[in-house]
Amino acid sequence: LGDTIGDNFDRTVQAFGARDALVDRGRRWTYAELAAEVDALALGLLELGIGKGDRVGIWSPNCAEWTLTQYATAKIGAILVNINPAYRSHELEFVLNQAGIRMLVSAKEFKSSDYAAMIDEVRPRCQRLQHVVLIGDELWNSLLENGKQADPAALAEIRLSADDPINIQYTSGTTGFPKGATLSHHNILNNGFFVGELCNYTEADRICIPVPFYHCFGMVMGNLAATSHGACMVIPAPAFDPKATLEAVQAERCTSLYGVPTMFIAELACADFDSYDLSSLRTGIMAGSPCPVEVMKQVIERMGMAEVSICYGMTETSPVSTQTRADDSIERRVSTVGRVGPHLEVKVVDPETGLTVPRGEPGELCTRGYSVMLGYWEQPDKTAEAIDKARWMHTGDLAVMDDEGYLNITGRIKDMVIRGGENVYPREIEEFLYTHPDILDAQVIGVPDERYGEELMAWIRMREGAAPLDAESLRAYCTGKLAHYKIPRYVHIVDEFPMTITGKIRKVEMREQAVSLLG
Ligand code: ATP
Ligand code: MG
Repeated sequence: LGDTIGDNFDRTVQAFGARDALVDRGRRWTYAELAAEVDALALGLLELGIGKGDRVGIWSPNCAEWTLTQYATAKIGAILVNINPAYRSHELEFVLNQAGIRMLVSAKEFKSSDYAAMIDEVRPRCQRLQHVVLIGDELWNSLLENGKQADPAALAEIRLSADDPINIQYTSGTTGFPKGATLSHHNILNNGFFVGELCNYTEADRICIPVPFYHCFGMVMGNLAATSHGACMVIPAPAFDPKATLEAVQAERCTSLYGVPTMFIAELACADFDSYDLSSLRTGIMAGSPCPVEVMKQVIERMGMAEVSICYGMTETSPVSTQTRADDSIERRVSTVGRVGPHLEVKVVDPETGLTVPRGEPGELCTRGYSVMLGYWEQPDKTAEAIDKARWMHTGDLAVMDDEGYLNITGRIKDMVIRGGENVYPREIEEFLYTHPDILDAQVIGVPDERYGEELMAWIRMREGAAPLDAESLRAYCTGKLAHYKIPRYVHIVDEFPMTITGKIRKVEMREQAVSLLG
């Protein structure tokens, strides 16, 4: 696609104006209705003096207004900066200043988050912030009203190029402080489009999106995949809620459902899971962290998502680099992250030498092509560390590619454990622990050890009613099935893992806690 996001959206509106575009619980919009509001907001922003290249922050849980803001800013070429709704004032202040945000769109409050109060607190220290609009308040309404009165010709005069930056997305912060990936129309529109192609989306699809919009999973693989195919976006709740998700799939007859593995685990564990009619589901996407084979099998069998895909990617690559396809063998669809996406390249290299490793051997995954970000926002040093001179993005993930190009992600370089000189991939052990009938979820980390350098610790969430496992019984379960050096020495039973709001497990924090537990 050589289009901008706005051009592409307008084409969909022309083709599918009367079809459902967006459902946010009780509220619904057809493409024609959504386009009218997008244009009104875009014109309202122009009247306020916001234009091409200005940074507009959005700090809100999922809601229809998030999507409106996404397309309105894209139409006028303002750079949308996605701000994690879990952030508190200190982090907000950092992003407002780091990205030089001129206008902030925010929810008023949500659960324990009083967004308006936090904005007031930091505002005196954010010199570039000129406008704050709380969704649904007077200023928001007047922006839309002004826009409706304005001359729509102003939109047609704006000259945008597909290579302009249009979005700054911060990484999840799983391994450290989040970095702002700067992405162009070309980056994210193509990625959303090709993800949708491989899901075989048409205007008949209805996609349930419980993953946050602030993250690429929601905004690109969700919203842009939907709007580039005329499909409908369904928002089940402002923040992830397993029951609300199942209810939305049933009520809206969704054909596709998204989630990180922990979300699917929570949905499948709902006590009344069997009472929902999920028969409309055809496909969906699991992504964001390692997708356990057992969970994938249940998603196919118990949720009826026969064509479900696994996607692998990262914020810096718009995000998706590899994806399984409906015609891949079932074995590959549950156990690999698929093959490289259309018009992209991948290679697996030895992180020391940079040379490509033979098929079947682990190394660092690198990706190249239209999806690679323009760079980290105002962090040229970090950009140069991640993207080499030949434009390869170094992902920091370990992968193995088989003879036919299917990839397995074996973990993050930073999470690999070296125990007594042996490389241990926590992922492999986690997969094995999932086979234990009493284990709901398991994560394995390395903890410092005087004798072996590192030792393994398993953090385990038990199924309801199951007696907690101790290190000895876990050892008995693993013995004879795993090599001795892969058997966790320590077991820690928890109710929840430390997580990012995108539902990713923060192993960094687990390691910190483990050190104090053992100390
Ligand atoms: P940060 O870069 O701030 O530490 P993050 O890497 O988690 O956080 P994202 O860009 O949201 O931020 O996530 C990308 C990472 O998620 C990938 O590098 C990879 O480690 C992991 N990931 C994504 N999809 C998959 C998948 N299908 N299987 C395994 N890991 C995945
Ligand atoms: Mg990352």
